[in-house]
Amino acid sequence: MMDQNLTLMQEACKVLPGGVNSPVRSFQAVGGNPIFINRAQGAYIWDANNTPYIDYIGSWGAMLAGHAHPKVVTAVKQAIDLGFSYGTPTERETLLAQKVLRHFPSIDLIRLVNSGTEAVMSALRLARGYTKRALIVKFEGCYHGHTDALLIKGGSGLATFGAPNSAGVSMDTIKDTIVLEYNNIPQLEETFAQRGQNIACVILEPIAGNMNFVRAHSEFIEVCQKLCTEFQSLLIFDEVMTGFRVAMGGAQEIYQQKIPSLKPDLTLLGKVIGGGMPLAAFGGKKSIMQHLAPLGAVYQAGTLSGNPIATACGLATLEILEQPGVYAHLANLSKKLTEGLCQLGKIKGLPVQVDYEGGMFGFFLLDALPTTYQEVAHSNSKIFSKLFHSLLKQGIYIAPSMYECGFISIQHSESDLDKTLAAFETTFNLL
Ligand SMILES: *Cc1c(COP(=O)(O)O)cnc(C)c1O
Repeated sequence: MMDQNLTLMQEACKVLPGGVNSPVRSFQAVGGNPIFINRAQGAYIWDANNTPYIDYIGSWGAMLAGHAHPKVVTAVKQAIDLGFSYGTPTERETLLAQKVLRHFPSIDLIRLVNSGTEAVMSALRLARGYTKRALIVKFEGCYHGHTDALLIKGGSGLATFGAPNSAGVSMDTIKDTIVLEYNNIPQLEETFAQRGQNIACVILEPIAGNMNFVRAHSEFIEVCQKLCTEFQSLLIFDEVMTGFRVAMGGAQEIYQQKIPSLKPDLTLLGKVIGGGMPLAAFGGKKSIMQHLAPLGAVYQAGTLSGNPIATACGLATLEILEQPGVYAHLANLSKKLTEGLCQLGKIKGLPVQVDYEGGMFGFFLLDALPTTYQEVAHSNSKIFSKLFHSLLKQGIYIAPSMYECGFISIQHSESDLDKTLAAFETTFNLL
């Protein structure tokens, strides 16, 4: 039989650079031809040959409620009948904002945008406008979308393609970006001691999901907040991936258990908040958010922002996640999968390291869990490619890069996990 995926890729490459609209979708890092997906339901996706796969990408984290959840589908269909976009305020924008505020106590005011990148870009402008400072501190291996100022040592897509920096980003654009090592407290303290008066903000992924899965140490988060308070810089939590995924209140809810005073100045949300539609947001303290136009002098706008179909999808998704027991269920699934992987590693004599939080997990063939990007980069990409293709052949779809974490949805079943572990067992025998 003809491989339809190959035919579709050949056609795509004639009209789309590399055949894709986002580089991480290509199989460049692992070799081979990407699969084209025709439909998805629950934990499964089907490719152009009608082959099913258990999906551990979930649209890079957005599909926490699983694909085509009936309640979400109904909400979106109802919204579609009423028109697609008005360019006026709509009630659902307020309803969605209210819902987010209920789960994120650090957010007083929020603005909806269309992508995580846009949320990041807008938040940086706001931080600079508010503090009247230029410098931005980011950490190696954290990805904050493709906004120019942060396209350095951004993990994920950049790391997958072996480029620390993107071409086309001028030195001028990044001269005010300081890149530090994740979890390195002395380096951060030294940077603030030298340049703290000029630092507008510190931006980080509190649990980094773009260098596989690496947690910030809580002492590190504590020092980030302490220095930002002392120097009146803003602390920005990029929870585009972790928001609603690791807990209803994001990674900040988890760290607040250890650091009760933790309160990021700004929080960025994306992925899950739109349930698969282009929707993202940034929000935070009222005193800061008031500086946004039309209230303040920091301009930010969007023709399709707060789109009625996207808000319907996001609201329905969050309502599903608000049901009692959802996050305990997700954690149980992640635990079963990661513990199973660990055990297989032991049996096969492979150095398997795992970690998870809520519906997000990491898996490494390393001797110890990494805490920095450099440690993640020690993973063996040749072995990973082998592992990836072996799993794919057995109907298990994980991200085609060792720099990405894994995503579970509420619709993954125990039997899906058993099938996955069986595929890993076969794969481990090949390594
Ligand atoms: C995905 C992601 C972004 C970028 O979001 P897009 O919607 O792809 O622009 C930013 N930050 C983090 C942490 C992300 O995971």
